[in-house]
Amino acid sequence: MRDELAGAARDLAAYIKALDDTLVGAASARPAAEAAPAPLPPPSGPAAPADMQSLAEQVRNCRKCGLGVSRLNAVFGVGTFRARIVFVGEGPGFQEDHQGEPFVGRSGQLLDKIMETVLGLKRRDVYIANIVKCHPMKNPADPESRGNDRPPTPDEIAACRPYLDAQLGFIRPACIVTLGSVPTKVLLSTDKGISLMRGKWADYSPGNGAEPIKLMPTYHPAALLRNPNLKRDTWEDMKMVKAFLGTLE
Ligand code: SF4
Repeated sequence: MRDELAGAARDLAAYIKALDDTLVGAASARPAAEAAPAPLPPPSGPAAPADMQSLAEQVRNCRKCGLGVSRLNAVFGVGTFRARIVFVGEGPGFQEDHQGEPFVGRSGQLLDKIMETVLGLKRRDVYIANIVKCHPMKNPADPESRGNDRPPTPDEIAACRPYLDAQLGFIRPACIVTLGSVPTKVLLSTDKGISLMRGKWADYSPGNGAEPIKLMPTYHPAALLRNPNLKRDTWEDMKMVKAFLGTLE
C-alpha cells in the first residue's frame, strides 16, 4: 500500500513537471508559432469513412449560423476515426481559426501533454472536436485581433450540434471527455458547472436508441493555465479515464 501511494505521488509529480515544462516551452516558442501559422491540410484523410469526409465538406461550406461568415477556417476535428476516446471542447479560438485544427495553441499543447503523461496516448490515437466548428468572436470584423474570443451562443450551439452528433455517431467511442463547462452542459443537458460535474462518470445519450456512451467531464486546459491548482484534479479525472480504458483491453 505504501509503495502504491509512493508510486502515485511520483506519477503526479512527473505529470505536473511535464505540464510545467510544456508551458515554459510554449511560452518561449510562442512568437515564432504565432508569426506564421501554417495552414493544415483538410482534417479528413484517406482513412476517413466516406460519410465522414462528406460531413467535413459540409462543415467547410457551412453558413448555418453567423460564425460561418467571420471564420477564417472551419475546424472540423482531428484524430483517428477509430478512437476509443473523443475529447470535446467548446469552440475554436484564434490559433485554431488560423490553422483549421482544434486545440493547437497553448491549451492544445497542454492537452497533448495530459494525454501523453496520464493516458499514454498521442493526438493521433484519439479524436478531438468542438461543440461549434467556427470561431466565436466578440468582434467578428477583426479575426486578426487577440483576446477576441467569446463563448458560443445557444443559437450557434443548436445550429452546429448536429455535426458533433454525427461525428460521435460515426466514431462510436467507448468514452467521451468534455473539456470545460460548455461541452459538459451541452452534452449532458445540465446547468451544473464544471467544478460540480468533473471527476464523475456520466452517460451521454446519442439518441436513436443507441447505447449510452460514458462521459467524463474535466477542466478545459485553459482553466489550468489560469489556475495551476486545477492540474491535480485533471490528473485524477484522467486517471479514472485510464482505468476505464484499461477495462477494455
Ligand atoms: S459554427 Fe457550425 S453551424 Fe455555424 S457556420 Fe460554423 S459549422 Fe456551420
